[in-house]
Amino acid sequence: MSDPNPPPPHPLAWIDDELVRLEREGRRRRLSTREGPQGPRIVVDGEALVHFGSNDYLGLAADPRLAAAASEAARTEGWGSGASPLVLGRARPHRELERRLAEFEGTEAALVFASGFAANAGAVAALVGPGDAVFSDRKNHASLLDGCRLSRADVRVYPHGDWQELDRLLTRTRARRCLVATDSLFSMDGDLAPLVELVAVCEKHGAMLLIDEAHATGVFGPSGRGVAEALGVEHRVPVRVGTLSKALGSAGGFVVGSRSLIEWLVNTARPYVFSTAGPAATAAAALAALEIVRREPQRRETLLARAATLRQQLRDQGWNVGSSASQIVPLVVGDVGRAVRLSHALRRRGVFVPAIRPPTVPEGEACLRISLTCAHTDEMVAELVEALRQL
Ligand SMILES: *Cc1c(COP(=O)(O)O)cnc(C)c1O
Repeated sequence: MSDPNPPPPHPLAWIDDELVRLEREGRRRRLSTREGPQGPRIVVDGEALVHFGSNDYLGLAADPRLAAAASEAARTEGWGSGASPLVLGRARPHRELERRLAEFEGTEAALVFASGFAANAGAVAALVGPGDAVFSDRKNHASLLDGCRLSRADVRVYPHGDWQELDRLLTRTRARRCLVATDSLFSMDGDLAPLVELVAVCEKHGAMLLIDEAHATGVFGPSGRGVAEALGVEHRVPVRVGTLSKALGSAGGFVVGSRSLIEWLVNTARPYVFSTAGPAATAAAALAALEIVRREPQRRETLLARAATLRQQLRDQGWNVGSSASQIVPLVVGDVGRAVRLSHALRRRGVFVPAIRPPTVPEGEACLRISLTCAHTDEMVAELVEALRQL
């Protein structure tokens, strides 16, 4: 006799169906593991590759000076921080890093978060809430978008870089407080936000402006503060976010601004209040990196000059590099299948360039994302250009 009530399927059985769907759509992603340190040459699954996929723009992730600073701090401070910052997870290296970050960025104060993701999500949700409005560029990083959603403010997404549309939206809004949030250097397109215009629009409407300099800190501007410095508007942007985990080669994120902004975040940014402070050793490594950024401007200069040359070479070959103006150079191909095939073909030639597909980029905008670092040699870049020419 058959059971009139067969047991229900396993509660997670739907996941396998969904994974099959992702596979079919060419969107299923798999982890591989790098062997050895991050750098311009890496080994993956026994295969030696020239690496054009990292955010280690200044070649600091494996710099022995960062490792030495981290080891020394681990020796004196121990490894784990053991608690959230407010409950004494914050140690002397964290405080010193915040002091140095404020000095580096030319602001009253700075606050270090466990990651850039936490800094963005925490800051946005701390600045607006129900009854407020937040205006977000269509191509903003996921952490900003998640911050918008978490805030429970009214979220308006404006077309990429479209400050005129933003101006119209701000004119019409009846919200109590308004926040405009944007990447300064967009992580997939490698283009810059029109910060001069955005600053003017925000000032006109009395809106708060938050910019995320994750890919620009250490790279753009005469002192490496980011795109706002490069465009001469850094002191007109009230909330600036950055990360310690990309050009600075360490881990963590930060917000810089006025003393009262920082004090507000200490009290209300939930990822700050409810998450354990990062190890003191990562703060010590970031301090060492800031010193290198100050003393070795040639790293960012070399990087941006090399990027300009590469963009020109690729355009000459007929590739579409979109509106890239930075060390991030996308090859826009549109179709997911083509992007994945190109990435595989490059890998067979010993060159790693990741294919970027939805949902990281909008549907129909799949690309290969080349990221340059100052640790790449001219020969490595020539190898990449030659491999692309052959495809
Ligand atoms: C990587 C990234 C972040 C997050 O920084 P992490 O320190 O890696 O968490 C934030 N914003 C942008 C634009 C990013 O690309």
